[in-house]
Amino acid sequence: MRIVVLAGGIGGARFLRGLKAAAPDADITVIGNTGDDIHLFGLKVCPDLDTVMYTLGGGINEDQGWGRTGETFRVKEELAAYGVGPEWFGLGDRDFATHIVRTQMLGAGYPLSAVTEALCDRWQPGVRLLPMSDDRVETHVAIEDETGERKAVHFQEYWVRLRASVPALAVVPVGAEQAKPAPGVLEALAAADVILFPPSNPVVSIGTILAVPGIREAVAEAAAPVVGLSPIVGNAPVRGMADKVLEAVGVESTAAAVAKYYGGAERRPVEGGAGLLDGWLVDEVDADTVADVEAAGIRCRAVPLMMTDVDATAAMARTALALAAEVRK
Ligand code: GDP
Ligand code: CA
Repeated sequence: MRIVVLAGGIGGARFLRGLKAAAPDADITVIGNTGDDIHLFGLKVCPDLDTVMYTLGGGINEDQGWGRTGETFRVKEELAAYGVGPEWFGLGDRDFATHIVRTQMLGAGYPLSAVTEALCDRWQPGVRLLPMSDDRVETHVAIEDETGERKAVHFQEYWVRLRASVPALAVVPVGAEQAKPAPGVLEALAAADVILFPPSNPVVSIGTILAVPGIREAVAEAAAPVVGLSPIVGNAPVRGMADKVLEAVGVESTAAAVAKYYGGAERRPVEGGAGLLDGWLVDEVDADTVADVEAAGIRCRAVPLMMTDVDATAAMARTALALAAEVRK
């Protein structure tokens, strides 16, 4: 079975670990979000790709959900002693090595997809990890600063430095319009037996991947059923501040509203962010929204959606695959 997953960082990576346990023989391709990428200290940092790679490769800091296990911060301390920041972005010594290798290879002319493959040679994540694009895409968030002036900041500045403490007025994947899907992305979607949206951020993770011209269309036109899992449980994100960026795109923080934001596949093709889903899983606590989601043309089930451990996550993945089999066209 060929499974394609569109993934952000923590939510995507943890789901993938359960999916691998649920479908050990499946051929899994992950299309990773690169809109969070940032240049720091002259290095190219790809937080979501690395979270997937470290999580599946056994190198992740489990408590944090990002960064390396057993990390130290000597380099960062030395940089700070020179007055060189930003201090708000946590880059550990082990993690630095990944970014040095990546930056060196990019400098030598390799595209990001080839660099990611080379990094995965070490980590053996057990999936094929593709960046959504080899072209530079950077998510910016429009905010109002202290003086009431509107300005755009890099997504990482909004998320990590400001902790989404001010309203996001708009979320813009800068460069997406000119970007091309990375080699293998469209082919994987066309050849997929199942396409899954893990409980990743619908706006800045999956939304950014879908903003690369050709990818949304390839998902909508794929022969495979598309099934998603809600990152919103009980009207709030399970982790993080997804509600802030959902507000920016005018979507309520409910499992049903996110499903409708992706749109029901029956309504393909619909402009402006709709028309993708055949199936949607909501958490048990949101069971009362199932009828609402189904009224939008999306087959819906309420099941436990907390990724507390690999077994619980594998059960979610099995339910998603079963729902996909049920809605297969
Ligand atoms: P990021 O790039 O690290 O922010 O990670 P993703 O975009 O892949 O996933 C972030 C989303 O994962 C958040 O909106 C969370 O609500 C969601 N999430 C995290 N843990 C869980 C969980 O156990 N269950 C569900 N349903 N969603 C989760
Ligand atoms: Ca991310």
